[in-house]
Amino acid sequence: MDPDPDDLDVSPNPSGEALTAERERTVGLIDALTARLAAVIDATADAAADDEHDPEGSTLAVERGQLVAQVERSRVRLDEIDAALLRMGEGSYGRCETCGVAIDPERLEVLPATRQCVGCAARHPARRW
Ligand SMILES: [Zn+2]
Repeated sequence: MDPDPDDLDVSPNPSGEALTAERERTVGLIDALTARLAAVIDATADAAADDEHDPEGSTLAVERGQLVAQVERSRVRLDEIDAALLRMGEGSYGRCETCGVAIDPERLEVLPATRQCVGCAARHPARRW
């Protein structure tokens, strides 16, 4: 009775674990931000009902804008992580999308969803990460 490797849920690849952990953290962050955003929206409605010139109202508006931006960034990050997990399934994970070299494992540890090696990322600063 040989053990079936498909029965093993845990990937031996530490980068895979880092990605999964990063994904869980990002999903948790989006949940927390979304809950906070809902609370701020409620508070904004209350503040507006009380007095539309209430200074608290503008503070809430600023926080609301920041939260919306944070949720956006976190969703983009989640997309990147999901794309990295897909690449892992295809076996192309850990290769630079631009020049094809193997990405430094230390870089992958810090930025598990990165698509580029450090050299290409430096040459294309417009890209995220
Ligand atoms: Zn590269």
